[in-house]
Amino acid sequence: MAGISIQSLHKQFPDGTVAVHEIDLEINDGELFVLLGPSGCGKTTTLRCIAGLETQTSGDIRIGDKLVNDLRPGERDIAMVFQFYALYPHLTGRENIGYPLRAAGVPKAEAEARIDAVARTMRLDGLLQRKPNKLSGGEQQRIALARAMVREPQAFLLDEPLTNLDAELRLDMRTELKHLQDRLGATMVMVTHDQVEAMSLGDRIALINDGRLEQVGTPLEVYDRPASLFAATFIGTPAMNILPVEVDGGALRGPSGLRLPIPAGLPRVDGLVAGVRAEWLSIAPPTGGGGGAARVVAREALGDETIYAVDMGGTRVHVRTPPTVRFDAEDTVDVTFVGTDPRVYHEVSGKVAA
Ligand code: ATP
Repeated sequence: MAGISIQSLHKQFPDGTVAVHEIDLEINDGELFVLLGPSGCGKTTTLRCIAGLETQTSGDIRIGDKLVNDLRPGERDIAMVFQFYALYPHLTGRENIGYPLRAAGVPKAEAEARIDAVARTMRLDGLLQRKPNKLSGGEQQRIALARAMVREPQAFLLDEPLTNLDAELRLDMRTELKHLQDRLGATMVMVTHDQVEAMSLGDRIALINDGRLEQVGTPLEVYDRPASLFAATFIGTPAMNILPVEVDGGALRGPSGLRLPIPAGLPRVDGLVAGVRAEWLSIAPPTGGGGGAARVVAREALGDETIYAVDMGGTRVHVRTPPTVRFDAEDTVDVTFVGTDPRVYHEVSGKVAA
């Protein structure tokens, strides 16, 4: 297996569209690395450049120590699994998996042994004699992954590999993919627009917006310390609250007098907003003390937790509470910050201020 290094990757299509803007990425050997971002942000183009299916306008791509800029896809020693995993309909599962080995001229006995080993890993024994139309979507997906694995490539590139599956199967396949990756120690780069998938699967996530890298980090880093307003609002459900704030002595003052601690090193400038996760706030009956006064607008009871939407002087704020906290619409409550530090951003540039 091998890491993948990308330097100043830039891709402009002939019609002038710049899909990827000078992106740098260091993907570690054995890492499950996720490219996450909204539709059209350039994830797939980045992946296709790594695969060699698209030629970058400029920049370097290395797989292991090898510069692969001028290598054709087949020479890059990577396997790509697409959202639409096209299996050959007239071939059995076994023949589908073995196809790349046959194409590469691997001797039959060795090929059979490798197919058996991969089928065991993917728990496909018993399904190998069936043709694709006799396999479920999830089983077809596993055959497609097995076909990619059987060549023992240096790295796997996965483009929305779970998108076509129903919710339950998706969950199973997520677990399966994670186990598989752990077991193989394989370097995997996966594209998804699904933040839950990215958070649950990724060792690290690269968040891309409009062809540019917004942030690279572990799921927790990206969740707790979003590097930009875009990152703050893209990741998490509900999205991070973005609250107008002013520096007020030794604290930040938000809507309705909500007080927040000042993160170290915050510049004393105007035009700041604070990013506050719903679980960094709590609500309680009003005491007339230091909390920010708010009116309950809506309550969403999710069983294990409840999400309140409250109005704080015209700003809608989400608060996550245990299910035992019960208020009704129109109740007056106090909102208190119970997190460590809010994130603070420059409102106009969206860049982090502290
Ligand atoms: P999605 O999640 O919808 O697949 P994506 O993040 O993978 O989106 P890309 O497919 O990489 O996005 O596309 C990035 C941008 O490049 C988009 O604006 C897209 O319209 C544009 N694009 C992609 N392929 C071409 C092409 N061959 N010619 C011109 N523009 C293209």
